Amino acid sequence: MSIKIFKKHFPLKKYGQNFLINKNIVDNIIKKIHPEIGQTLVEIGPGLAALTEPMCQLLDQLFVIEVDYNLLLLLKQKSFYSKLVVFCQDALTFNFTQLFYKKNQLIRIFGNLPYNISTSLILFLFKHIQVIQDMNFMLQKEVAERLIALPGNKSYGRLSIISQYYCDIKILLNAIPEDFYPIPKVHSIFVKLIPHNISPYFVYDINILSLVTNKSFQNRRKILRHSLKDLFSETILVQLDINPKLRAENVSILQYCQLANYLYKKNL
Ligand code: SAM
Repeated sequence: MSIKIFKKHFPLKKYGQNFLINKNIVDNIIKKIHPEIGQTLVEIGPGLAALTEPMCQLLDQLFVIEVDYNLLLLLKQKSFYSKLVVFCQDALTFNFTQLFYKKNQLIRIFGNLPYNISTSLILFLFKHIQVIQDMNFMLQKEVAERLIALPGNKSYGRLSIISQYYCDIKILLNAIPEDFYPIPKVHSIFVKLIPHNISPYFVYDINILSLVTNKSFQNRRKILRHSLKDLFSETILVQLDINPKLRAENVSILQYCQLANYLYKKNL
C-alpha cells in the first residue's frame, strides 16, 4: 500500500490503527486463511483495506466490522465496495451469532486486530464459539505468546488457559514493526485459533474456571494453598491430587478444570 493514502486518513491511536503495508505479509496472510467462495468470512477492522481488497478478489461477499466511520467513507470509494456488508460498530459489542444465520454456516473471522483491545476481543469471541469455524488474527507478539503458553512458561496465565480450553492455536507467521504504518513499538504474530471438535477439557461452568484462574494468577508466585485459600482447603487440594505447594504457573489446564468442577458440584 502506498504511504500517500495516509494523507487522506491520519491513523488514530485510540483505535489501534497500525495499518499493514507489507504486501508479502498480506499475501501470506490471505494464503494462510485460505478463503473459499461461499464461506462466511468476517473481518474485524478493515481499515484501509490492506486485507479486505485481496480477500474480495477471492470472495463474492465479505462482512466487515469497523468502528471508525471515516475509514468506512474511504472504503465506500473502492471498486470492491459492493461485495462488502458493512457494520459500523464496535466489535466488542457485536452480535457475531447473527452472521451464522445468514447462511446457517460456521463463520470465519480474521483481522489485524487493534492491539489495545485484542485480548478483550478474543475473550469476547469465545462467547460466540459455537458459531465460529476459525479465527485468524494478527496480534502483538506478547499476546500471541500468552495464547499458546504451556504450564511452566512465563507467559502462561488466564488467557492461555481460557484460550486453550476453547481452541487449538497455531502460530502462522511473524511480522516486524516496519510491516505496519505507523510503525508500532512491538513485534507481531499471526495466529489461527480453531475451536476444538472434541475438547480435551470440560467444565460445567466457564465462569467458575475464570474465577479460579483469576484468583490463582492474582499473584502468580504464590502457592495454591495461599492463593486459593478462600475457595479450597489444603485437604481438598490433596484429595483432588493437586499439590497445594504448586504455583499458579505450574498448574495444568486439566487441573484448573478439576478445581472449577469441584466448586460447581459443591455449590449445587
Ligand atoms: N485491517 C487493516 C490493516 O491490516 O491495515 C487495519 C488494521 S488496524 C491494526 C485495526 C483496525 O480496527 C482499524 O481499522 C480500526 O479503526 C479498527 N478498530 C479499532 N477498534 C475497533 C473496534 N472496537 N471495533 C471494530 N473495529 C475497530
